[in-house]
Amino acid sequence: MIKLYNTLSRKKETFKPIKKNKVSLYACGPTVYWYAHLGNLRTYIFEDVLRRVLEYNKYKVNHVINITDVGHLTSDSDTGEDKMEKGARRENKTAWQVAQYYTKAFKKDLKNLNIKSPSSWTKATDYINQQIKLISKLEKKQFTYLIKDGVYFDTSKIKNYGQLWGSKKVNLKPGARIEMISGKKNLTDFALWKLSPANQKRQMEWPSPWGKGFPGWHTECVAMAIEKLGIPFDIHCGGIDHIQIHHTNEIAQSKALFNKILSNYWLHGEFLNIKKGKMAKSSGKTIILANLIEKNFDPLSFRYLCLTAHYRSLLSFSWQSLSSSQKCLYFLKEKMASFKKEKDNNKKNIKKEKDYLKKFKEFIENDLDTAQALALSWKMIKDKQLSSKQKYYLLAEFDKVFGLDLTKQKKEKCPFEINCLVKEREKYRKNKQWQKADQLRKKIEKKGYLVEDTEQGSKIKRNMLN
Ligand code: AMP
Ligand code: ZN
Repeated sequence: MIKLYNTLSRKKETFKPIKKNKVSLYACGPTVYWYAHLGNLRTYIFEDVLRRVLEYNKYKVNHVINITDVGHLTSDSDTGEDKMEKGARRENKTAWQVAQYYTKAFKKDLKNLNIKSPSSWTKATDYINQQIKLISKLEKKQFTYLIKDGVYFDTSKIKNYGQLWGSKKVNLKPGARIEMISGKKNLTDFALWKLSPANQKRQMEWPSPWGKGFPGWHTECVAMAIEKLGIPFDIHCGGIDHIQIHHTNEIAQSKALFNKILSNYWLHGEFLNIKKGKMAKSSGKTIILANLIEKNFDPLSFRYLCLTAHYRSLLSFSWQSLSSSQKCLYFLKEKMASFKKEKDNNKKNIKKEKDYLKKFKEFIENDLDTAQALALSWKMIKDKQLSSKQKYYLLAEFDKVFGLDLTKQKKEKCPFEINCLVKEREKYRKNKQWQKADQLRKKIEKKGYLVEDTEQGSKIKRNMLN
């Protein structure tokens, strides 16, 4: 029995899918004007764990991720520039080229993080007709109005408009973050179709019954989700920043069109922060996966770090915590390899094995408690009542959800800095400058590596106890 925290009811609920043994899952995808940062990637790791937990429970998951390649403006209040057009100007490329480049980069990140490919990708620019049809239907039902800037949704016509906010209801007043577009009837009204400015040729624009323009971001997801998964579908997810505006406005449209809430369960992942505050593409305070790889980190160390915190709690990123996660990850990998090779000196304890499996399932089915499940793994590998084969089996089983590739042995790359120190030390050794060589050994050890002097030269190993 899987329990998931539903933002809509603000309760942990027992998950019941619409169709037996099947789950329809929609995850809001990236806006592809820049690389996904670690915060974005934390959200996709949480969604991947969700999918893996469902699959572990034998559900067939129809997982859709969209690519927002048009219509997401620099401000959530429908003002500002289209992020794609801004990206194109920055890079001196077309918006289409920018979208293609960052979509490819995003898919590579997912692969590096062992995030399963979705059953389908949907790209907003491939669904323009569906979005125009959807807006026309809303217009027929009199939920829209046309102003100079575009077609807007009248949120005052929706009962219980901010249902998803709950007690987190935010006082929306025009101010620093919210701008009021002239002609907008209510502050929360949002653009369904933005008209291209009369004196400006946009790179991405399409004809429509209201004039040349482009769709609003909140309409894209509704059109694509309904087309691929029907209405309602089972689970909709994203980061917490989507609760107040994006997902609230998706629900408003689905209520107006079908008198139904788009999805039955709404799951939101908390943010990943850095010391300086929120990690956001627009703030420039970002770290991307390539930055980790440059520093010789295994991308799966970041996945490990994310698993150490519950997806609904804030996680602070630091290089130190990443480094600790990498050590833990490699330790588990080494353990896996030794469990496989070891001759069993313990007898199989079937009851213990079953108990561990049961406990593991309880943790992950309790709103995806990966932190507890990881702690259980550490307890399990130290348990003297289990045989090595049992430990191998259990850890491999847990890894179906963790996705850390524990059974695959990857050779760890030694950081450039350590390689340089080792070479320098070899020189001292050749010159019989033992004191200097010893000093360097200590320096290397402080950085978490061990040097072993062999006849073939120096061997470097990560110090797992460091
Ligand atoms: P975007 O590319 O900005 O549309 O965001 C892609 C996904 O990342 C969405 O689900 C956001 O809610 C989520 N997100 C954005 N910033 C963060 C952050 N700092 N930590 C976690 N998730 C985030
Ligand atoms: Zn969305």
